[in-house]
Order: sequence, then structure tokens, then C-alpha cells
Amino acid sequence: MLVVALGLGFWALGWVMGVPVARRMAVLAGLWAAALLAHLVLPEGNGLRVAIGGDARVWGVLGGIGALVAGYGLGLRKLRARARPLATAPAETGPFRPVELDRYARHILLREIGGPGQLRLKSAKVLVVGAGGLGSPALLYLAAAGVGTIGVIDDDTVEGSNLQRQIIHTDDRIGLPKVQSAAMAMTALNPFVTVRPYQRRLDEGSAELIAEYDLVLDGTDNFDTRYLVNRLCAKAGKPLVSAAITQWEGQISVYDPARGGPCYECVFPERPLPGMVPTCAEAGVAAPLPGVIGSMMAMEAVKHLTGAGEGLRGRLMIFDALYAEARVIGVKKRPDCPVCGSGV
Ligand SMILES: [Zn+2]
Repeated sequence: MLVVALGLGFWALGWVMGVPVARRMAVLAGLWAAALLAHLVLPEGNGLRVAIGGDARVWGVLGGIGALVAGYGLGLRKLRARARPLATAPAETGPFRPVELDRYARHILLREIGGPGQLRLKSAKVLVVGAGGLGSPALLYLAAAGVGTIGVIDDDTVEGSNLQRQIIHTDDRIGLPKVQSAAMAMTALNPFVTVRPYQRRLDEGSAELIAEYDLVLDGTDNFDTRYLVNRLCAKAGKPLVSAAITQWEGQISVYDPARGGPCYECVFPERPLPGMVPTCAEAGVAAPLPGVIGSMMAMEAVKHLTGAGEGLRGRLMIFDALYAEARVIGVKKRPDCPVCGSGV
């Protein structure tokens, strides 16, 4: 009885003091061993043996039961420890894996983006028309920023003369389709985004493709495609970030007639006659200029998708790299626009 009372006392004291179960079990085992030893070593009729009570056999059986209970508890705890990581791990970080949270940490820190904004980027689908000078930085930054699905459409192949400014491509990929080369660079930069390459020219039949996306970026260098992308986007109600560059100058705006802004044709109603506006191939272009304007396209895309700041809807930015001057002018919707006007 003395030993049982001592054991209970130690157990209760340990519980109050927050001693771990394993420690308290060790104390009980020590008490048990002392009681058994007393019965085995001390002579019959000894005062301590009487005080402890029972005999060596009783204590032996008691020890066996105690060992069984302890072993069962230990086995149960081991099983639980093994089951726990499987049962609870996937739900802890929400839609982002821990490596993604680490990757986008600088975005999540921004008040204007944060976790909800990063989630909007992840669930967004953006189509980029043209994997050339403007498309290169735009595509790379969309991928780096974590835009979940990025489509890229271009029918060209990589040439040596592209590499002076089209930095998404590399010398060893000369001859490959540009969309394939771009997809390789983007997935190498960020394996957590989906890239959809379309090796063809955007045409009248591309309305279905545009309908699949939330936002379109146009960085092509020919007027036919630029006017066509504008028409398809206006018809589908999709916002369009459109930019153009030549020599030392670039321009960029967000055309979104579905949300009150003008379309490209509102601002540039007169299509230039063929051959009147020289292309980059004819007139030349400074290497970093598409880097500046293409990065602005990605910036406008990130702002539009996350709702941060003020976009360039209704404003046209003109950047003169030669004199380091930027101007922003207001642009308006034209009621008689053949694409988005009230008569359409
Ligand atoms: Zn218009």
C-alpha cells in the first residue's frame, strides 16, 4: 500500500508540474523495481517488506502488466506519429506549396498584391501575341510573377538577328520555333506555371482562343495583326495591353472598351499605308528599348490582374529613349469607332 500511495503521489505531482509521461513512467518503474528487490533481498518478516506488502510473485505479475500497458501505449504513439504527416500536411498552405510561398514572398509583402493578389495571378490566364522583342520580357516577367496560365502565339522561328533584343531566346535555339524556345525559357524560370505554345499566326479564326483568356498582350510588329487583335479583343470584351516600338521610341496603353476605355482603333483610326511606317527590320531598334516597353506590358498585366494602382486604360504612354523622356496623354473612346463605337 505504501508503494502504491507513493507511486500515485509521484504521478499526480508530475502531472501538476507538467513532467512528460515517459519520465513519470520511469519513476513508477523505479519504485516497482525497488519493491521487487526488497522482497528478493531482505529476510522474511523484515519491517520494510511488511510495509511494502504482497510478495515477490505479486510484484512480478504487477510488473508484467505494467510493461504490457506501457508497450501498448508506446506502439500506439509510434503509429500516430507515422500517420500524422500524411493526414494533415496538404491542407496547411492553402493553394500554394511552401516553395511557392517562398518564391512569391516579395509579392506577398506588397500591400497592393499580398496573398489574395498572388492567388489572382495564379488563377489568371494571359495570352501573349508575339514572342519577339516585346514578348520576350513580357513573357519572362509574367512567368516569374506567377501568372498561372500563359499562352504564347507566334509562327516564327528564332534567327541570329533576333538575339540583339529578343532575350527569351538563346544562340543554341536558333532555328527552333519561337513559341517552343519561349516555353523552354519560361518553364526553366518558373516550373509552377503552365505555358501553352501555339505555333501559328493569329487570324480571323482565333476568336475561340482569345475567349479562353482573361487578358491579352500584343507585342507584334505588323499593323494587320495589331488591328486584328484589337478587333477580336473588343468583340470578346477582353482587355488588351498593346505596345509598339521603333528605333528609339515606344508606346503603350491598355485598350478596354468593355470597361469604358477606348480601343486601339479609337486612338489610331487611320491604318498606315503599307510601307509608310518602317518596321524594326527596316529602320532598326535599340536593344534595351523592347526590354523597357515589354516590361511595362507585364507591369500593366500584373496591375490589371491584381487590381493594384491605376492602369493605362484611357491613357497612352510614349517613351523617348534617346532623350529619356516619357509623356502620358489622355485618349478617348470615339462614338463612331467601327470596332467599339455605339453604331456597332
Ligand atoms: Zn474603338
